[in-house]
Amino acid sequence: SASSAEEFDVVVVGGGPSGSTVASFVAKQGHRVLLLEKESFPRYQIGESLLPATVHGICGLLGVSEEIERAGFVRKLGGTFRWGTSPEPWSFAFAISPRMAGPTSHAYQVERMKFDDILLKHSRKLGVDVRENCAVTEVIEAGDRVTGVAYTDASGARHTVSARYVVDASGNKSRIHRQAGGERTYSDFFRNIAIFGYYEGGKRMPAPKQGNIFCAAFDEGWFWYIPLSDTLTSVGAVVHREFAESVQGDPAEALAQLIAKCPRIDDLLSDAKRVTEGTYGQVRVRKDYSYSNNSYWRPGMVLVGDAACFLDPVFSSGVHLATYSALLAARSINSALAGEVTEEAAFTEFDARYRHEFGLFYEFLVSFYDMNSDHESYFWQAKKVAGFGDSEVEAFVELVGGVASLDGAFVDAESVRTRFKHTAGELERSVSQVDRTGGDDATPLYQSEIMGSVMEQGTQIQVQAALGGDLDPEEALYPGGLVPSADGLRWVASAEQ
Ligand code: FAD
Repeated sequence: SASSAEEFDVVVVGGGPSGSTVASFVAKQGHRVLLLEKESFPRYQIGESLLPATVHGICGLLGVSEEIERAGFVRKLGGTFRWGTSPEPWSFAFAISPRMAGPTSHAYQVERMKFDDILLKHSRKLGVDVRENCAVTEVIEAGDRVTGVAYTDASGARHTVSARYVVDASGNKSRIHRQAGGERTYSDFFRNIAIFGYYEGGKRMPAPKQGNIFCAAFDEGWFWYIPLSDTLTSVGAVVHREFAESVQGDPAEALAQLIAKCPRIDDLLSDAKRVTEGTYGQVRVRKDYSYSNNSYWRPGMVLVGDAACFLDPVFSSGVHLATYSALLAARSINSALAGEVTEEAAFTEFDARYRHEFGLFYEFLVSFYDMNSDHESYFWQAKKVAGFGDSEVEAFVELVGGVASLDGAFVDAESVRTRFKHTAGELERSVSQVDRTGGDDATPLYQSEIMGSVMEQGTQIQVQAALGGDLDPEEALYPGGLVPSADGLRWVASAEQ
């Protein structure tokens, strides 16, 4: 009953990477954290290709890097794409960026059952009270404030808990985000459907690219090909909603037919067999429409990861945005709980930085898709006739730039837009440079200014993780904004103020 409600500083809903990360960073500051997860871990999830910022930055700050390294995940040195006007595949390596050179120039391809489980167990080690098989059913409010949640445990018993902050980290399917107020706005541009399964015995690219993600465009959309071990491969097609009928009927049959339409994937799988048993034995279909909530927080509640926003998976940004937003939210919660910063200032900072990062990736992806604009396939033309144009970019950037939120005055949507105006051209040039060199197909993509911007925050987190408390003060994102504390776990006023 409500009278016997347990009390915590923070309750986190969901034990995926966003939930375990925010819980760990808050527990590290000595606060009492409860994490409620409706499933029993390890549990299946899609989203297997990671970025260096997560592996070295976030995992470093969490103190779980070595454990991740020991897990033996496939090392991802970069990506290979059959994309754009070039008929030949081209690659990029993380090591090409001077920002990521050295021991942190790789990421991993992970079985999410294992990766998410390591992060959640780590939260427990840091003192988080993790309860599995506990589904949150309700967000409790008092006046304007969120004050706790109600949940049902494995036996079906209902409990209530109260907390200073409730973090919604419950992913894209849950409805809890609605309690933060505002609405989920879907991008008109990225409305795709994904269909995916697992194969044993697929071919590998030659070293050092054997661990790369391979993305191949074809008429209906594009494929991912992600090596999860020497023999296991995750294979999925992302098709425009206009081709929704091609993923109807029997999913296994639909996937096989799509593979047959994409010669490069078909060839990589020519000796392979689809896994038909166990967790990987199912062919799954998921709507992967990109969206962003127009409110990421309200007093007493904050949204992180897919609960807040989701982006088309072609650049593997999902787990990065999930864990990065978790770090931002933890800084805001830790600062507000310590009484060092007002709640309004702390969460305005969270909101501005999160939208900024999401906006960078969004714009980058729009440009990336645009590279196929003169490709003679229905898919890419459909994108064009779907009414995508400058005004829509503007509208969405204004949305993700925070114009609809409290800090609209702080985030300069126009500057984000002009920064990315020529991105498609820049990317094309990167690719054609490769063609000219003829040799190894590594592109200077990661050296480009645009990629530098996209990777900026991730790099800063990596530097912070590597240097511990010895960090040069960062610049504020906007006038009057806050900057991370030296340990990276709270916000402080910037030195210039
Ligand atoms: P989740 O991982 O979804 O975790 C949410 C957790 O909350 C779940 O464990 C769930 O059981 C729990 N939960 C839900 N409701 C409740 C409740 N009421 N009470 C308690 N618990 C609850 N990302 C990448 O980085 N790389 C990729 O290659 C990539 N590929 C993708 C391909 C596709 C087709 C799609 C759709 C996504 C892809 N992503 C990828 C994105 C990635 O899957 C997500 O961004 C990531 O899983 C988000 O993490 P999260 O912690 O926010 O949510």
